[in-house]
Amino acid sequence: MAILPIYLDPQKILREMTEDIDTKEITDKNLQDFILSMAETMTNAQGIGLAAPQVGSKRRICIISYGIYSKETEKKEFNITNYKPQNTQNSIVLINPYIIKKSLRKIVLEEGCLSIPGIYGTVKRPREIKVKYIDIDGQEVVLTAGGWLSRVIQHEVDHLNGVLFTDKVIKYTSDKPAIPEYPYVK
Ligand SMILES: [Zn+2]
Repeated sequence: MAILPIYLDPQKILREMTEDIDTKEITDKNLQDFILSMAETMTNAQGIGLAAPQVGSKRRICIISYGIYSKETEKKEFNITNYKPQNTQNSIVLINPYIIKKSLRKIVLEEGCLSIPGIYGTVKRPREIKVKYIDIDGQEVVLTAGGWLSRVIQHEVDHLNGVLFTDKVIKYTSDKPAIPEYPYVK
């Protein structure tokens, strides 16, 4: 597959609403290739999550690095239930994801974004969430997530709704824009 250029803020597509994937399309080679390319792009950029608008697509898809929850100890910390491992290279693939429940308890954590290189800041978000999505095999999954997994899913689903973490920053911890080492569209 291919490493895709990452669209940087303020590219317009980062502010657009994505469109649901037709579930009949999930087995299409075209879509499967695109998802593999997203995984390759995320790995190359050393990201822990990537949403389709970040590679210039309006498809409602995001991926999360498998590395952040692959260890048993982390599984406990991340409070994963109803999780079904998938074999799409290095990532969990969320097609048409929607957050259907958020905990009242919130937590402040630091975030960054491949589309906003060099900028980091703290963001307050619900601690736990429930997300509904279609997996790479076309099956509907409801995932309950806490910890970093919850945080990354919320950041990525925001991307699919045209929202960036900088819209929600409480305090910047680094505010010097950087030139990325990965291919990008400015
Ligand atoms: Zn991001």
